[in-house]
Amino acid sequence: MSGIDERVAAVREQVSRAAARAGRAVEEITTIAVTKFHPASLVSDLYAAGIRDVGENRHQEAEAKAAELTGLDDLTWHFVGQLQSKKARRVARYARVVHSVDRDSVVDALDSADLPVGCFVQVALSSDEHRGGVSVDDVERLAERVVASRHLSLLGVMAVAPLGEEPRAAFARLRTVSERITTIEPSASSISAGMSGDFAEAILEGATHLRIGTAITGNRPATP
Ligand SMILES: *Cc1c(COP(=O)(O)O)cnc(C)c1O
Repeated sequence: MSGIDERVAAVREQVSRAAARAGRAVEEITTIAVTKFHPASLVSDLYAAGIRDVGENRHQEAEAKAAELTGLDDLTWHFVGQLQSKKARRVARYARVVHSVDRDSVVDALDSADLPVGCFVQVALSSDEHRGGVSVDDVERLAERVVASRHLSLLGVMAVAPLGEEPRAAFARLRTVSERITTIEPSASSISAGMSGDFAEAILEGATHLRIGTAITGNRPATP
């Protein structure tokens, strides 16, 4: 097995074990390989290793890779990074899922592309975070705007665990926010949480979409 195949297999094994500990079915958990900074060839290698969901956090880089790999038509591109509304329309052309919806202007810009996009509302789990996200108090209002849009579907909530806090405690708060959102839209029960260092904790708190970079890809190159 190549290094990539081994890392994909190792992460799948760890996801299965965490799901078993949580008493959850592994089939309800989607592992997204975050490929930012890596070349399109790495995405092809991941595809060969069975990965069908990849995540990117910068529009220009993502757009170029998606254009290079249009032949992989059952590959789903997820946009996970902070998004400027002026770029959102273009992101909707290749990303079927956007995890970082955190402002009205992003909702409106994505909707204006007239394409179906699944959306996670990104929640700021700590007030002194600079990682994006809407405050816990504003999540419902923003979720309602997604639901009221013409082309977007609300999938659920997303967050990055704040630095300096035990991740499981943060993910437990996200789960509470998720429960509130399902009272607005019962189908919006997905939770995008968990990265290389904390996906087991996220699974214990109900994560359905893991965004895993380095544990799968190895270290990121310093520049793309
Ligand atoms: C880069 C990134 C990840 C993956 O991070 P790793 O620590 O490499 O697993 C997950 N989510 C977002 C939003 C990212 O930007």
